[in-house]
Amino acid sequence: MLNYWNKEIETIGEDSLAALQLKLLKETIKRALETSFYKVRLEKAGITSCDDIRSLGDLNKIPFTTKDDLREAYPRGLLSVPSKDVVRIHTSSGTTGTPTVIYHTKEDIDNWTELVARSIVATGVTDEDVFQNMMSYGLFTGGLGLHYGAERVGATVIPIGGGNTKRQIQLMRDFKTTVIHITPSYALHIYSVFRKQGVELLDLNLKKAFIGAEPHSENTRRKIEELLNIDAYNSYGLSEMNGPGVGFECIHKCGMHIWEDSYIMEIINPVNQEVLDDGEEGEIVFTTLRRNATPILRYRTRDLAFIHEGGCNCGRTHRRISRIKGRTDDMLIVNGVNMFPSQIEEVVMQIPEVGTNYQIQLEKDGALDKLTVKVEIYSKMFTGDIHELDLLKAKIKEDLRASIVIHPIVELHEPGSLPVFEGKAKRVLDLRPNSYKEV
Ligand code: ADP
Ligand code: ZN
Repeated sequence: MLNYWNKEIETIGEDSLAALQLKLLKETIKRALETSFYKVRLEKAGITSCDDIRSLGDLNKIPFTTKDDLREAYPRGLLSVPSKDVVRIHTSSGTTGTPTVIYHTKEDIDNWTELVARSIVATGVTDEDVFQNMMSYGLFTGGLGLHYGAERVGATVIPIGGGNTKRQIQLMRDFKTTVIHITPSYALHIYSVFRKQGVELLDLNLKKAFIGAEPHSENTRRKIEELLNIDAYNSYGLSEMNGPGVGFECIHKCGMHIWEDSYIMEIINPVNQEVLDDGEEGEIVFTTLRRNATPILRYRTRDLAFIHEGGCNCGRTHRRISRIKGRTDDMLIVNGVNMFPSQIEEVVMQIPEVGTNYQIQLEKDGALDKLTVKVEIYSKMFTGDIHELDLLKAKIKEDLRASIVIHPIVELHEPGSLPVFEGKAKRVLDLRPNSYKEV
């Protein structure tokens, strides 16, 4: 089994990493000054040349970049190379406003591919694996990103994309798929389809899943692992930083290694923007170090996490982040109490009777907010007596109350009755006036 894809860089020492980061940061500043957006932004901050950055400590001279900045710079404000050097464009979906765009040169794609290759090798993938990519292809980066990385490692890639579960299962059978790339919600859903169609796990060769693109709890990971009898690895990425391959769990599954030779990572307090120490939870901020066409400086991801202290048993020296709690804008305020959907998920997914899907609904009831948590439970529960169902409901309610402080209404649903998502799930339906939101 391959342990590392690029041992030298994956196990780089602290001082060498710092020196490399500084060198690449200076190159990145140089490139950024070539873009119309950063030229103005950096000069305002007193940075007119890469020589104004003398140490990594000078990072705090650089202003943050937000999603709105990227929108403002659309379509060409962040392009730092001649158009002819661009070989690929990825854009966001643009459902919440002007889309954002990331340009890639040939070298950019090559570097991204390298990061994905390193990531998947860290989970034990080799050229013997058959990799079924169940994330959608196209402008969304989840599909193409993993595709090239898996090819580079030499795995056999099945580029089926998202959806069409019946065909997915057929291909898993016919080509003896060993690894899948899938959202956690789709992974749970696919198990229900296995059951419905009488698919036996023993007839399949599944061993691993890369699960990502949306927040999920440790309990959900465990559930996916138990139901599908596989190892599931958390995969984190965002299109502004290429896509998948930014952070990935290794076989020890204790946080996601962030490839720090390619991204400078900071955690900040989202309210006052103060940089926090390892171990403190806050908003992740990234600076690209190896991107030519679209350099991005101190990008505020809105994703909340903390950096794990200490090294990892795998020997990789790149620091690890916790799972993502959610985005700052996913936070729900219910009768004055702040909570994240992931806290609700953590509770419901640890209850053995709860099946593979749930939904959170918010409404107004007079002046108060009404929170309803709908959970699917396994069908065998519906054959028991009604008293058992009441007990289960009371248990879920009490567990939620203990975790999120407020008293939700709990509804039990039959398997397959709640909405199903084959890409990123929308678990929260906020029907309160002025706050309509699907998260
Ligand atoms: P969009 O911003 O339109 O969702 P992206 O595909 O770039 O487009 O999504 C990136 C975002 O998805 C991240 O910023 C993060 O919020 C979420 N995400 C990606 N991977 C994970 C993961 N493993 N855990 C939690 N959230 C994730
Ligand atoms: Zn590790």
